[in-house]
Amino acid sequence: MAGILEGKRILVAGVTMDSSIGFATAKVAQEQGATVLISNFGRALGITRRIAKRLPVEPPVLELDVTDESHLAGLEAAVREHVDGLDGVVHSIAFGNPETLLGGKFLTGPWPDVAQAVQVSAYSLMSLTQACRPLMADGGSVVGLTFDASVAWPAYDWMGVAKAGLESCARYLARDLGPEGIRVNLVSAGPLKTLAAKAIPGFEDLEALWSTRAPLGWDNTDQAPTAKAVCALLSDFFPATSGEIVHVDGGFHAMGA
Ligand code: NAP
Repeated sequence: MAGILEGKRILVAGVTMDSSIGFATAKVAQEQGATVLISNFGRALGITRRIAKRLPVEPPVLELDVTDESHLAGLEAAVREHVDGLDGVVHSIAFGNPETLLGGKFLTGPWPDVAQAVQVSAYSLMSLTQACRPLMADGGSVVGLTFDASVAWPAYDWMGVAKAGLESCARYLARDLGPEGIRVNLVSAGPLKTLAAKAIPGFEDLEALWSTRAPLGWDNTDQAPTAKAVCALLSDFFPATSGEIVHVDGGFHAMGA
């Protein structure tokens, strides 16, 4: 049976370990028939190259630091070395300094670190999408990852503010790129044990909330449900959906207590 991403060309930005949501997304996308490219930046690029071999098909690994203008400017050409365009882009990128911004540091967060968190975690959805826009001349689907920013959480602090920016950024991108046939949506995942999550002091307090409140239950070691939702949004099965946030959280967000 043909997969839901048969013939699609997809860039997944933000794959470091096999625990990365981006890795799980790349895996499901390949299983569903997509040609996948992955990216990461800096020192972790070597790890990504090794981890890439664990995917069903070893994908090209591109270097992309979303804060580096030259990387963004060179992205189209780097992608075109492998595929002649893109049908989908996954933004699976976030960073906030855990020592100054997270785990109860909200009231003392220094601006340069906040600025970095917002640039890497929110602004980059626009800059990555813009860099990929010439590759999506026939339309496409952009999907990012958020952690429900409509409320305040324990420990999440300035990353919550950055995610609120990401969620708004997705809506403005949906507005401006809809006329070009580009859909922009987010998946709001429950807590998952990834590198980024482990770096957040007190993240286990959030995980504990899920174990009692998610009506479907929640396995914080299973990235597959989140990856499947990202792939569904990349597919042709959401043709009239943009500016949306799909919760993949075991139903947690819908419970009052
Ligand atoms: P992850 O494996 O650590 O992925 C985050 C990725 O962002 C890493 O590959 C990281 O690279 C990359 N990154 C950081 N700064 C970058 C930059 N300047 N340029 C390009 N890439 C950069 O953790 P993850 O949990 O899978 O995170 C993926 C997305 O899911 C993030 O947006 C995260 O906020 C979101 N999310 C996670 C959870 C959760 O509980 N884990 C829940 C909801 C949403 P390095 O590893 O090299 O720093």
